[in-house]
Parts: sequence; C-alpha cells; structure tokens
Amino acid sequence: MQLKRFLSILGLLLFVMIMSSCKPKSQDDCGFVQNIYGQRISWKTKLPLSLIIHSSVPAELRPAIYRAAKTWETNAGTKVFEISDDSSALSASPGRDKKNGIYFLSDWESDRKSEQGRTNVLWAGDEIQEADIRINAANFSYYDQNPKVLTGSYGLVTAQRTTADGYSFEALVLHEMGHFLGLKHREDQGTVMATHLAAYTNRIQLAATDEKDISCEYKK
Ligand SMILES: [Zn+2]
Repeated sequence: MQLKRFLSILGLLLFVMIMSSCKPKSQDDCGFVQNIYGQRISWKTKLPLSLIIHSSVPAELRPAIYRAAKTWETNAGTKVFEISDDSSALSASPGRDKKNGIYFLSDWESDRKSEQGRTNVLWAGDEIQEADIRINAANFSYYDQNPKVLTGSYGLVTAQRTTADGYSFEALVLHEMGHFLGLKHREDQGTVMATHLAAYTNRIQLAATDEKDISCEYKK
C-alpha cells in the first residue's frame, strides 16, 4: 500500500517534470508581443519578408514605404523586406490570403476613426505566418517628404496648403512595419512605436529603444 502510494506520487512528479520541460521558456519581451507562454512573436528566420503594395496606395507615397523598410533593415543589418509593386496576387481587401499587403483604405470603421493605421499579425506558436498593414485614408491625409503633396481624405492637392492636418506617411509606415515585425506599442521618449503620431511630425528615425528591441529578434 505504501509502495503503491509512493509510486503514484513518483509518477505524478515525473509527469509534472515532463510537462514543465515541454512548456516553452518565457522570454524578455524586448518590446515584442508575446504568446501565452511569454515567448516573443516574430518571423524568426523567415527573412526577407514579402510585402506587397496594394494598388490603392498612391504612387507618390510609395517611395516612403521603401525608405521605412530601409530604416529597419539598416539596424537589423540584414534584408528584412522584399517589397513588390505587383499586387495582382493580393486580395482586394486585407484578410487571410497567405500574402502580406499594405493597403490605403478610404473605408474605415466609423467607431475607430481616430486610428491612423492598423497591422494585423497572424501567428502560430511563436512564429508570425502572415501580416497586413492598413492605412486609414478615410480620416487622415498624408504627405511624403514634399509637404505640397497631401493625399488621403482630402484627395491629392498639389497647391501649398496648411499641412497642420497632414501626417508623415513614412513615419506611419515605419510604425506599422514595427507591428508587422512583431513589436507592440511603447511610450518611451522618441520611440517610433508610440501609439499616436502627431500631425506633421517626421518621426522617421529609430530611437535607441527601437534599435535595441529589433536586435532581440532580427540582428544579424
Ligand atoms: Zn500602432
């Protein structure tokens, strides 16, 4: 009787030990979204990542996408994005299509009007499978480096106008690309992952925290 009890306790102990060795180890967040085990969510070694520019993105804003990608890549020390202009294989609207797209949307949920952009990331385990970037062009206008060019809810304007209501497209894309890579919001000084982008603010350089964060998963 005693032996039986001893054995069943031993068995239980072994079971618990096996279970805990299977459980993934929790990691430092490093600015990344984490799964329920506390592991960082990222693309791991699947670089470079395909990102397709949907036809809805105005031509005059496209160079900013390439520059934002370069900013992340310079820090990662490796090619991170494989950007393509050919959106023929991309779904007409963002969704699960096994393709990563960036969309410039003139329709946006009326209860989320204050949202400038949104990046949906799908993952399995600790690995991202697919991501889509949505830009809110229904409620915001954007400019590229040349502030004379504003496009979005106000349409394309080529005449000089007040830029108080325009947002840096490069800054917004840089931020959304951070989400695309797995980063979450943070509010440290100067970070490109701060939740809100102020109007007419060229937040196009990574802060020290962003550089540190990205190196946790992608540094070569
Ligand atoms: Zn964000």
